Amino acid sequence: TKKRVDVSAYNQELDELGQLLNQTMGQVQNLVQSQQDFVSDVSHELRTPVTIVKGHLNLLARWGKDDPEVLADSLSSSLSEIKRMEVLVNEMLQLTRAEKLIVNKEQITTSVAAVVERVYHDFQIVHPEFSWTYDGEVSQPIEVAIRPDHLEQLLIILLDNAIKYSTDRKEVHLALAKAGAWVEIGVQDFGQGIAHDDLDRIFDRFYRVDKARVHQPGGNGLGLSIVKKMVAAYGGQVQVESALGSGSSFRLRFPLVDPSQEEVLEEKQSDL
Ligand code: ADP
Repeated sequence: TKKRVDVSAYNQELDELGQLLNQTMGQVQNLVQSQQDFVSDVSHELRTPVTIVKGHLNLLARWGKDDPEVLADSLSSSLSEIKRMEVLVNEMLQLTRAEKLIVNKEQITTSVAAVVERVYHDFQIVHPEFSWTYDGEVSQPIEVAIRPDHLEQLLIILLDNAIKYSTDRKEVHLALAKAGAWVEIGVQDFGQGIAHDDLDRIFDRFYRVDKARVHQPGGNGLGLSIVKKMVAAYGGQVQVESALGSGSSFRLRFPLVDPSQEEVLEEKQSDL
């Protein structure tokens, strides 16, 4: 005698399985799509400098031997385009690394203030034309699970931007503070600011507000996408407030290594 199986009992499971499969397929498709988009974005970005260098090489081949002016001009233009490509490729590598970053938070504790202060001092030295302020008096060490070189990289991107997009008022303000179970690092400038409609998109790769000015002062539009991916890998957040003409304020937030302990410590201190 054949055993009869009541299929209806499995209908719900089958349904759920179907849905799951659909969802997974959707995710795979998105992934493939985003890979294709990336390749297409990168090709697009590299095409311009390649075309320029090719043009100069043609000039050199034709006139370079006889015309010292063409020779000097084309060589220096080619060199600066190639340097730009080098920066672009490096930034793309950084973005890919940030996207692939898997963090084992248990193995890292960094005292944030030391890193922030070191970067702050370096920038002060390199950009004496700016007036710098730092608001980061912390009574106890703030420990966060982030690799110090990564934190440094994040700060450098934000500070570089603050400088690049400053106008007349050359002022940068850095802040470090605890906020509940988080540490917050703020980078504020008083420069050109970002229009409301652009705010959501500045974290997209290759997005630049002012696309016409490819060379100056903007870069490749990768800095903030690196920030976003890297911050996410550490379970942190990046926020921005900005208004056209009055400046921008970026804020990085990371969970404290041991928030419960920090709170208790603070309470104990205030009891004294
Ligand atoms: P870029 O290399 O162009 O600076 P980012 O990804 O770092 O690329 O930034 C993307 C865009 O966001 C910039 O091109 C610029 O238009 C805008 N932006 C970023 N930071 C600031 C800032 N501090 N002030 C004004 N605009 C900014």
